Amino acid sequence: MPRAPVVNRTVLIVGGGPVGLGVAALLMSNPQAERWTVRLLEPNPAPDWSDADVDLRVYALSRASQHVLESAGAWSGIAARRASPYRRMHVWEGEYSASVGALAFDSAELGEPDLGHIVEDRLIRHCLVETLSARANVELAFGTELADVRVTADGVEVTTRDGREMTADVLLAADGGASKVRGLLELPVISVPYGQEAVVAHVGTEQPHAETAWQRFLRTGPIALLPLEDGRSSIVWSTSSDRAQALLRLGDDDFMAEVAAATDHVLGAITSASARVSFPLRAVHARQYCAQRVALIGDAAHTVHPLAGQGMNLGLLDAAVLAEVLQDAVHRGEDPGDLRVLRRYERRQKGRNLRTVLAMDVLHRLFTRAGPMLAPARVCGLTLVDSLPFVKHAFVREALGLVGELPQTARRRVA
Ligand SMILES: Cc1cc2nc3c(=O)[nH]c(=O)nc-3n(C[C@H](O)[C@H](O)[C@H](O)COP(=O)(O)OP(=O)(O)OC[C@H]3O[C@@H](n4cnc5c(N)ncnc54)[C@H](O)[C@@H]3O)c2cc1C
Repeated sequence: MPRAPVVNRTVLIVGGGPVGLGVAALLMSNPQAERWTVRLLEPNPAPDWSDADVDLRVYALSRASQHVLESAGAWSGIAARRASPYRRMHVWEGEYSASVGALAFDSAELGEPDLGHIVEDRLIRHCLVETLSARANVELAFGTELADVRVTADGVEVTTRDGREMTADVLLAADGGASKVRGLLELPVISVPYGQEAVVAHVGTEQPHAETAWQRFLRTGPIALLPLEDGRSSIVWSTSSDRAQALLRLGDDDFMAEVAAATDHVLGAITSASARVSFPLRAVHARQYCAQRVALIGDAAHTVHPLAGQGMNLGLLDAAVLAEVLQDAVHRGEDPGDLRVLRRYERRQKGRNLRTVLAMDVLHRLFTRAGPMLAPARVCGLTLVDSLPFVKHAFVREALGLVGELPQTARRRVA
């Protein structure tokens, strides 16, 4: 087969969250990286990570995400600074105690070293920026916000809030759940607001967290305790917007008492509490992930309820698949902005992501529904799954992100 002529391509990434930075780093980690010029726009300053301060935004990252970040050249920096493995999970129905009718996973029983890692948002971004900063063909434009976008026959043109004009062969919209690019191009979405917010804080506990992720399903929404490296736990408490706002206003002692009660004192008393923030919750799914010269990735394409901690994991897999599709296209001499190329990414990711958005929505409704027999039925369901080793193993493979057709960068074994 004749070799395709070498053509340099420009990709413009809108959004410097973990997914936008992730796709940039994956494009640069390939042997053909010199074929790309990458420009990334992000309104916020470059992420600044400090050992003394644990970011309030943390994620439960799956094994597949760990592999993707390793392929992107960021995992060794993350692991060397701060990544907290969780080796057990304990999930229970809120109307019963933590020891009755719970679903428990233990990585040792399942032959796995861990079930994933809790990692700070700022640290992921910091380590991705570190690897990208070393590349001559990458321009990271922090403090720069996209204001407008126009798609032409042979390129895409954007205007920034400060009046600069830029052009590219393909634009990747990684600008989050309220994606400006998606709005400007009028790409339709299905959107379901939950009328809920997630309150996030780090808390000290009387008993050690035992490298366990704890989750209690209350009728008002789930509360999770995720183990941090410094011995504290990160809480993610999904509840009605009114209650979330009231929790943010409480004094520390009252807030700690509320968290202890909501977690049924599973780790004893709450002994300290950090600052708190809240995030509004909604399910969003774009009806199409791409248009001519434009692809949506991460939360710009799909936003899921955080009850199973899947949003970032899906987004990093989008980044891995899209980088693979773009690299293959350029290798074959195709135009990476061609809709037929971008649809290869959509075909690989849309079904998987939609299934997760729907599964999280069903779980949320199942556990927040009131009814005389529903709590016992939920406990029976959890107990049944807990008693079936092969079903539990299948759940864990799913949670580790190791099922389905995975891109090469997500399959890699960590040395
Ligand atoms: C409480 C909570 C807990 C969660 N826990 C987990 C978890 O445990 N595990 C997990 O996998 N997921 C979790 N998630 C989901 C996760 O937060 C998201 O899926 C993830 O942040 C998406 O990353 P992203 O890079 O796509 O978007 P974002 O992180 O939202 O980044 C988007 C970026 O785009 C930038 N941007 C916006 N507009 C513009 C513009 N006009 N021009 C240029 N840039 C722009 C923003 O400044 C931002 O930096 C959780 C979510 C919540 C709310």
